Amino acid sequence: MKQQKSDVLIVGGGFMGSATAFFLRQRGQSVTLLERDMIGQYASGVNFGNVRRQGRFLGQLELANRSRALWGRLPELIGEDLEFLPSGHMRVCYREDEIAELEAYAAAPEARELDLRIYSGRELHQRFPFLGPVVKGGSYAPHDGHANPRLAAPAFARAAIRAGARIEERTEVTEVQKVGSQFEVTTRDGRVFSADQLLITAGAWGQKLSTQFGEPVPLETFGPQMAVTEPVPYALPTVIGVYTKIAEEVIYFRQIPRGNIIIGGGFRSKPDMVNKRAVVEPRSTINQLQQMRRLLPGVANLNIIRVWSGIEGYLPDSLPVMGRSGNVDGLFYAFGFCGHGFQLGPGVGDVMAELLSTGSTSTSIAPFDIRRFASASNQQSKAS
Ligand SMILES: Cc1cc2nc3c(=O)[nH]c(=O)nc-3n(C[C@H](O)[C@H](O)[C@H](O)COP(=O)(O)OP(=O)(O)OC[C@H]3O[C@@H](n4cnc5c(N)ncnc54)[C@H](O)[C@@H]3O)c2cc1C
Repeated sequence: MKQQKSDVLIVGGGFMGSATAFFLRQRGQSVTLLERDMIGQYASGVNFGNVRRQGRFLGQLELANRSRALWGRLPELIGEDLEFLPSGHMRVCYREDEIAELEAYAAAPEARELDLRIYSGRELHQRFPFLGPVVKGGSYAPHDGHANPRLAAPAFARAAIRAGARIEERTEVTEVQKVGSQFEVTTRDGRVFSADQLLITAGAWGQKLSTQFGEPVPLETFGPQMAVTEPVPYALPTVIGVYTKIAEEVIYFRQIPRGNIIIGGGFRSKPDMVNKRAVVEPRSTINQLQQMRRLLPGVANLNIIRVWSGIEGYLPDSLPVMGRSGNVDGLFYAFGFCGHGFQLGPGVGDVMAELLSTGSTSTSIAPFDIRRFASASNQQSKAS
C-alpha cells in the first residue's frame, strides 16, 4: 500500500504521545501519531489524577519541575486547564522514624523547588483536623495538586491536530523497522507509514516494539486499584497519600470540587494483556476502606459508587524508559512510567520534542536511558 511520510512518527496516543505531537508541531516538525484504539483510552485516561512531585526519585525532579511549570500554563498552551488544581499534596506517615525520612527528602537540594514543609504532632492535627489520630507526621507540598485524567490526552491531541498534526485512531502498528535512512511502520490494516524519526510511546506495550529493534526491557504490567465515593460537601482540597513501606498501607485520596472522594492504592491486580483489561480485586477495595478509616475516619460511612483499574508498565527500578535508542539512529522511546506518568505528561512531551528536533535536551533524562537494561537483554539473547 502507498507510503505516507512525515518527519516524525509516533506510536501510541496516550498522554506521552499526544503531548509530544503537540510540542513537535510547536517546533515546526511534521508529525503523524498512530493509536491502536482511542486517544487516552488506557492508563492516561483512567489514572488517579495526582499531579504529585514529592516522593519521586530525586533524579526525576528536574523533569517533574519542568512538567509542573507546563501544568500551570495549560490554558495558554492548549486552550484547556484539564481541571488542574494546585491544591497542595500532603504525604503522611504513621511512624516517628518515617518523619525523619520525610525530613531528609525535604532537605535534598533537588527538592528545593517543591517548598516542602514538615508537620507533626499538634501542629499537624490543627492544620489537617480531619486526619485520624494514628497519623504522626507529614510533608506538605504546596504547589502539587490534581487534575482530571479523562481530559488530558484528548485535549493535547486536539491541540496537536489544530496545530497541524495528523492523528489516526484505531490504527495498530504491527511491525516497525528501519530501511536505509527511513523508518517504516506497518499497521494491522496493511498501511505503511514512513518517517525520518520514530518515537515509541506505547505505554505498557512499549517493550513489544523496542524488542523489534533488539532492545527488550524487563517491563511488567500491573493494574493500580481505584474507587470513588458518593459526593459529599467539598472539604478536602489537599491530595493526601501515605508514606510507608507496608504495601497495604499505601493509599491516597483526593476530593474533587463536585464532592466525590477518589481513592487509590493498595494491592495491584495483574492485567489481562490479551483483552487489554485490568480488573479491581475485591480485596483491594476492602483494604482501601479499612485503610481510609485509619487515615480519614470521617469517611467511614460513605458508599463507594464505582471502582476501576488500568494497565500500567513498570520497570524493576521504578523509572521509565525515555530517550534515544541505544541501537538505532533516529529511534526514541518514552514508555513504562511506573505509575508516575500523569504528572510528567506535559514535561515528557516537551522534552521529547526538544530531543527529537534539536538532538539534545536541556533537562537531564540520563537515568531513564534504555541502555541501562542492555546487559540484561544481552544475557537474555545469549540464553535464548
Ligand atoms: C489506575 C492508574 C492510576 C494512576 N495514577 C497516577 C497518578 O495519580 N499520577 C501519575 O502521575 N500517574 C499515574 N498513573 C500512571 C499514568 O497514568 C501513566 O504513567 C501514564 O498515563 C502513561 O502514559 P503513556 O502515554 O505512556 O501510556 P498509555 O496511556 O498506556 O498510552 C499508550 C498508548 O499506546 C497505544 N499503543 C500500544 N501499542 C500500540 C501499537 N502497537 N500501535 C498503536 N498504538 C499502540 C495504546 O493503545 C495506548 O493508548 C496511574 C496509572 C494507572 C493505570
